[in-house]
Amino acid sequence: MKDVWVIGSGQLGRMMQYAGTPLGINVHPVNVDDPALAAPELSATGVITAERELWPETPSGKALQAHPNFRNNTVFGRTADRKTQKELIDALGVATAKWLNVEADTTAAQCYEQLGDTVLLKRRSGGYDGRGQLWLKQADGDSLPSEWQQTSIAEEKCPFDEEVSLVGARTAQGELVFYPLTRNLHVNGILMASISPLQRLVHLQSQAEDMLGAILNELEYVGVMAMECFRIGDKLIVNELAPRVHNSGHWTQAGASISQFEMHLRAITELPLPSPIVRNHSVMINLIGVAYDEAWLAYADTQLHWYNKEVRPGRKVGHININDASVDSLLASLENLRGHLADNYGEVLDWVCEELR
Ligand code: ATP
Ligand code: MG
Ligand code: MG
Repeated sequence: MKDVWVIGSGQLGRMMQYAGTPLGINVHPVNVDDPALAAPELSATGVITAERELWPETPSGKALQAHPNFRNNTVFGRTADRKTQKELIDALGVATAKWLNVEADTTAAQCYEQLGDTVLLKRRSGGYDGRGQLWLKQADGDSLPSEWQQTSIAEEKCPFDEEVSLVGARTAQGELVFYPLTRNLHVNGILMASISPLQRLVHLQSQAEDMLGAILNELEYVGVMAMECFRIGDKLIVNELAPRVHNSGHWTQAGASISQFEMHLRAITELPLPSPIVRNHSVMINLIGVAYDEAWLAYADTQLHWYNKEVRPGRKVGHININDASVDSLLASLENLRGHLADNYGEVLDWVCEELR
């Protein structure tokens, strides 16, 4: 049996753990946030990976990071800081939203002059689910709050048609494998739903693979990475990168012969990495701040992943995957969910149904 230790013990580490079972891999998520947790005993042949980009210097965090088999050790520093992540993307000539680094003396006027009359400040590190962002509008005045100076980048507002993402993996030998593009719906910065595959996105697949492939190769990356993009007409531009398994790839648990979690484990432990067989139509619905309801499970094409977290408003507490060969059956399952989810899911389900019909 191979052993993999994961920096972090949230839902991604947990889903990696059960993805290890059909591969004969023991996966051990480690709660590196706990300062009282002793460094685990790691085997020399074990492999270390991370479910997140930043972690504290606790005994367990330091021990995992120091292991010679910690994959992509040098990548996290570059991608966890939006400034160095953007520099990497720019240096490769991969399209991304125009941006500038917010220095101590950067003014709002400079942002508007270079990026347009609406700009988005994003914290350089630690932001997720749209937290750590601030829209600045020229019409609202000329101030740039001082707490955003030296801690953020400014981005132009992208007039995108829709958001898509690509999840792919690279082996140590440089082989690349990708899933089909996924269409994503974000509401207030939080991913609410994903759909994949979609016939109408097929013509963008090679463009997306070239972009993510260039990034994976430049970083000599091993494992799964996700690339969030904006589609503007026939052009994709990168929003951000996640050097890990990603929420927009959760549909692969039901919709592919190798899930993104299995793909990541295969790549980092040097198992064969065949292209996954993608089945049927998949929809993923994120469960945000809603209480568990067994009525979600009434249909045969529906799976629930419940993260066992305390339910709080705005918190991701689980996701539902629906995979079906029949669009009509899929739509029926979505209608069932509509009756058992909070009212704000109405627009999310409308969005999914409109795409599938
Ligand atoms: P995640 O949870 O995906 O890590 P995050 O907090 O890191 O989110 P981003 O992905 O950068 O934040 O942005 C969140 C959402 O905000 C995007 O999915 C998109 O809907 C919107 N957004 C981000 N950047 C821009 C932009 N430059 N122009 C317009 N909308 C944007
Ligand atoms: Mg992010
Ligand atoms: Mg994002």
